[in-house]
Amino acid sequence: MFAGRTARLVVGNDGEVPLDLVLEPWGDVHRILPEDRCVVVTHSSSGDDSWPGTRLGDEPFEVEHRSDSVTVWANGHCFHLSDRKGNDIDPYVYGGCPAENRAT
Ligand SMILES: [Zn+2]
Repeated sequence: MFAGRTARLVVGNDGEVPLDLVLEPWGDVHRILPEDRCVVVTHSSSGDDSWPGTRLGDEPFEVEHRSDSVTVWANGHCFHLSDRKGNDIDPYVYGGCPAENRAT
């Protein structure tokens, strides 16, 4: 069983044009269509309630808005993108996922 932590963040586009979602520190870009949403999930393997990538305080996510994009810093060891129904948008896991490593 995965002993670390899981955090989820829903990002929606209420605008009328596509929105670029930038996942840092990996630099991955996903386009969210108008009125669509996606879910960003990150895992941390640490058992001490910390998030390894955090830059401010101890937070699983940091969000920065720009005029035509939103940058999400996922502060765990990985990120996973899915749509609001839970279907994987991008099944590739960047940097290795501690939750999946535990399962194998
Ligand atoms: Zn993961």
